[in-house]
Amino acid sequence: MKKTHCISAAFLACLSLACALAPALAQKAPIQITADLSDAPRKLYHAEIDLPVTAGPLTLTTPQWIPGNHRPTGPVDEITGVVFSVNGKPLAWRRDDVDLYQFHLVVPEGVTTLHAHLDCIVTRRLSQKLAVLEWEKLLLYPANTPVREIPIQPSLIVPAGWGIGTALTPIGDGPYPVPANGATTHYAATNVEQLQDSPVITGQYFHEFPLAPTITPKHFIDVVSDNPEDSNLRPALLAELGNLVRETDALYSSHHYNVYHFLLTLSDVAGGEGLEHGQSSDNGVGEKGFSDDAHQLGEADLLPHEFTHSWNGKYRRPVGLYQPDFATAQQGALLWVYEGMTEYLGDMLAARSGLETQAQYRDILARSAASLDYRPGREWRSTSDTAISASILRDDGPEWAMWRRGQDYYQEGELLWLDADTLIRKLTQNKKSLDDFQKIFLAKGGNTGPLIVPYKFDELVEDLNAVAPYDWATFLHDRVDKINPRADLAGIEQGGYKLVYKDKPDPSQKMLMSSGSPRYRGLNCWYSLGLRIGSDGAIMDVRWNGPADKARLAPTEKIIAVNGQIFSNDALQTAIRGAKDKTDPIHLIVQADSFVSMIDLDYHDGERYPVLERVEGTPAYLDDITKPLTVPEKAPATTKKDDE
Ligand SMILES: [Zn+2]
Repeated sequence: MKKTHCISAAFLACLSLACALAPALAQKAPIQITADLSDAPRKLYHAEIDLPVTAGPLTLTTPQWIPGNHRPTGPVDEITGVVFSVNGKPLAWRRDDVDLYQFHLVVPEGVTTLHAHLDCIVTRRLSQKLAVLEWEKLLLYPANTPVREIPIQPSLIVPAGWGIGTALTPIGDGPYPVPANGATTHYAATNVEQLQDSPVITGQYFHEFPLAPTITPKHFIDVVSDNPEDSNLRPALLAELGNLVRETDALYSSHHYNVYHFLLTLSDVAGGEGLEHGQSSDNGVGEKGFSDDAHQLGEADLLPHEFTHSWNGKYRRPVGLYQPDFATAQQGALLWVYEGMTEYLGDMLAARSGLETQAQYRDILARSAASLDYRPGREWRSTSDTAISASILRDDGPEWAMWRRGQDYYQEGELLWLDADTLIRKLTQNKKSLDDFQKIFLAKGGNTGPLIVPYKFDELVEDLNAVAPYDWATFLHDRVDKINPRADLAGIEQGGYKLVYKDKPDPSQKMLMSSGSPRYRGLNCWYSLGLRIGSDGAIMDVRWNGPADKARLAPTEKIIAVNGQIFSNDALQTAIRGAKDKTDPIHLIVQADSFVSMIDLDYHDGERYPVLERVEGTPAYLDDITKPLTVPEKAPATTKKDDE
């Protein structure tokens, strides 16, 4: 049933523009593309493409600016073996001298179909047992044309016996999702914009699970893994993902897809991804990423975050981040909404759906808030500058990272929207919240299929005012555009908690360390010594003006010994504890390049780890925010009787 909402005139104008740009699929013959992944274990994808053409000069292109990456990451450098042909005869081509993504050709008289073959060298997101296809690796289409106006009909070949997960619509009843050996799976025609937005995962160990079957449209999670047992997800996780679908349905009161597929790869070689799409999300974690509660805690917000992007980022997109082609630069100025609000909502939904507990949510929030509060780069750079600079900040190294600042619009955005949420609750005696804003901002136009409706800053202000009148423009500008030497901790405090530092890590941190994941092996001494170090003593970053900075330590150096003992986490921890309230410095032997030196660290405040502490007698809005809106699904656990 279609839900109705108050729709502003400006929004209707936007929506009609979006509709007017809808592809005229019926009028044009689609490009036919067959992606052949049968060589995936050998790191090669192949494509056979038939393009409808007319005689004369023709310029074809591959995608450059990839939505969601916010950067020009199209893999043109990996596209190889390009051969154009007409009626079986090769046709000469020349690359554009300036735009290296473009190929120029001249189509002979009388020719209506051009064939292109190309290969892509793929070294990420695949293994011997699974592969992820992002279509920009194989796409070729007419340049200088809005991509949503270019019809295309995709087909797919995968290694024998491998299953397929995708939001693309298979034609007929077909062999989907596990085709017969060597069979080609055909999908309904779409347009180039949608095809790029519809990745495919495929693998030998494949499972597809329906989620929250009472909710329409349908939701699935498709899983591939390197080991046979990993893709068969735990019932408890499936129940929590069902909760996620129901919680999201209740929160956003709309959907903007015809079907939704969570695509999940569990692999130590092909993991490490989270990319949103309108009707699916591409999620890649280590092979044990969801195998138990400790591993799951490290990944709990991934699926809620990427799922939320279907609304915030895909359906509603900042006007500068939407371009009609993949050639024009995307502008990141409003990424503190696109990513920052998604960060807030993803973490909130992880708690509401049970993927993590409310206490774990607070532990993670404390670490994020403390990290921002102890980030010296905020003294020179605003949050909005990190957003505008997004495309040059993604791959930066850890050295002096906190002085430079990275893509801080994620975590800064989380604190900002928590501030807004708790402020609305305060202004309305907890009768309204940011949930009400989502029901306006993300649900305008009711339920739709995949659609992009751009927005500007003023619409945020207008919709926030519709929930609770306030000077929202100033509120947002002050927090985003100004230089703020301290992090925005107002949301935590309005939420009934305060950020404090204790001498022991919080329980969640201990649980993450117990997972054995390399991400959590190092000792956190950022709030004590002012050092980020690996478990081997390698210094990754030094806090500007902190104790280690004053002792002239530097990133890329390595701590070899602590107080006369070879470096270990334990040795350093013991030294920090031992120096507490004493006057003797901590003695270090440090290697810098091929030189070794003795360094004394004058630090006496002991270990310091951030936690949130409840402020009794104040409203605990933070607990309200993380409470489920729906009745949680219980995992089909074995009953006590069965256990006996
Ligand atoms: Zn995101």
